[in-house]
Amino acid sequence: MDNLAALGLPPRSSREPPFGRTGPRALSAGARGCPGQAAPAAQTPYIMGVPVPFGQFIVKVHGRCNLACRYCYLYAGPDRTWRDRPAAAGPEVLDRAATRIAEHADTHALSELALVLHGGEPLLAGAGRLAAFAGLVRERAGRERTVHVTVQTNATLLTERRIATLARHSIRVGVSLDGGRPAHNTLRTDHAGRPSWPAAVRGIRLLAAHRPEAYAGILTVVDPRTDPVEMYASLLELGPPALDLLLPHGNWTAPPPGLPAMDPHRHGPGVKRPTPYGDWLSTVFDRWWSAGRRETRIRLFEECLALLLGLPGATESLGLDPVNAVVVETDGAIEQVDSLKSAHHTAAATGLDIFRHSFDDALSHPGIAARRSGAAALAAGCRSCPLLTVCGGGNYAHRYRAGEGFRHPSIYCADLERLIRHVTARLTEATATATADATGNATAHATTRANTTRTATGATVTTPASPTTGPVYAGGPR
Ligand code: SF4
Repeated sequence: MDNLAALGLPPRSSREPPFGRTGPRALSAGARGCPGQAAPAAQTPYIMGVPVPFGQFIVKVHGRCNLACRYCYLYAGPDRTWRDRPAAAGPEVLDRAATRIAEHADTHALSELALVLHGGEPLLAGAGRLAAFAGLVRERAGRERTVHVTVQTNATLLTERRIATLARHSIRVGVSLDGGRPAHNTLRTDHAGRPSWPAAVRGIRLLAAHRPEAYAGILTVVDPRTDPVEMYASLLELGPPALDLLLPHGNWTAPPPGLPAMDPHRHGPGVKRPTPYGDWLSTVFDRWWSAGRRETRIRLFEECLALLLGLPGATESLGLDPVNAVVVETDGAIEQVDSLKSAHHTAAATGLDIFRHSFDDALSHPGIAARRSGAAALAAGCRSCPLLTVCGGGNYAHRYRAGEGFRHPSIYCADLERLIRHVTARLTEATATATADATGNATAHATTRANTTRTATGATVTTPASPTTGPVYAGGPR
C-alpha cells in the first residue's frame, strides 16, 4: 500500500475529479476584453522539459439550463457571453472537439483523460446524444486510452431510461445540489419559480437505487448559515460515494455571503477576522474524520490531507499543482474553467477555438498559463505564507479585485487558514495516537523505526515506518 492508498486515494494517474469539478456554480477568466486579468509573466508549466498537458476536457454540450437558481454565477453573474452562444453544441462542434481531444492525448501520450459533459444542464441535449459524443471521443482517442466520462447535472431530468443509457455507455453522473433537504434547496427553482427539489431527489434516488456504479457523487456549495452536521447527514442520506464541498464564488470586489468588504492589501495569514466558512468546514471535517469508517469521500478534505503529507493535489481549490482542465463552449470556443466567470464579463475567454486552434495552443495562452503557474502567479503574501503549498492561494477566481486582477490572496484566506490548521491538528493527533498504539504493542525495534516528519504547514507528524509503508490514521475514514 503506498501513501495514496493509505489515505484511501487512488493513484495519482487516475486522480481525476470524481465528477465535474466545475459545477454550474463554478466559473472562468479569459484574455479577450479582460480588464482585470492578472498579468504575471506566466509561462506554460513544464515537468522535465515537457509542457504539462490538459487532462480534463469540459465540454458544454448544452448552454442553457432548465433551472434558474437564484445565485447562479453563470446566468445571473457578471459574465454574459452565454447569451450570444448557441443553446446546444452542434454536431460539427462535438466532432471537432473529439478530434482535438484525441490530438492532445496523442501529442502528450496520455494514457487516460477525463471528459466532463457540462452545461447549463447537459441532459437537455438528450442522454442518447451524450452517449454518442462519449463514444466518439473514446473512438478517436483509441482503445489503448482510458476516457473517464462524467455528466454534471442538476438531476431533475434523470429518469430510469436516461440513467440506463448513461450507465450503458460508462458515463458516470455527478449531481449539483444544495443539501439533502427541501429547505436547503429553496433557491434552486425553475424559470417559473417552482422548486426543483422533488424532481432532483427523485432522480438521485433512481440513480442510487438502479445504477449505483454510475453515481459519481454530489457537489454542494457551502452555506455557513446551515448547521454543518445536519447538512452533512442530510447529504449522506442520498448515498453519494463522494462529496465535494465548494466555497461559493466571491472575490475582493464582490465578497461571498457573510464576509465583509475587505482590502486585500491589508490581508494575509494571521490577520484576525470571522471565519464562518472555515468554521463550518472544520465542523464537517470532525464529523467525517471521527466516523470510524468511510461514510463517503470528501474531496476537499482528502486533498487537504494529501497536500499536508506532501502528495500531489488534484483540485483547483487548494495546492500549487497546475490546473489541468479546459472548457469547450457550445460554439467551439476554448475557455478557462467557469469559476472565472464570477469575476467579470469575458473573464474565461481566450479568443481561441477548436476549429482554428489546438489545445496545445491553449496551453500557452497567458490567462491559462497564469492559472497554471503555481506560486509565480501569487501575491507576495501568499508566496511567503507558511501554508503556501497546501493552500496555494485558494481558487484563482477568489483572488480577484476589480481594476487590479488576480494577484491577491484568496478572499477566503482566513477561512482557508482556519481549515488547514484544523486538519493539520487532527492529523497530528491521529498519527501520534497511532504511533503510541504501535509502540505500546510492539517491540522496541518497531519504535526505533518510527519516523517523525514535518507536514507542509510545519506541524510534526509521527508515522510508524513499518509494518505499514504510509501514514497511519487512528481516526479518519477508511
Ligand atoms: S497561501 Fe492561502 S492562507 Fe496563505 S496568504 Fe495565500 S490565501 Fe492566505
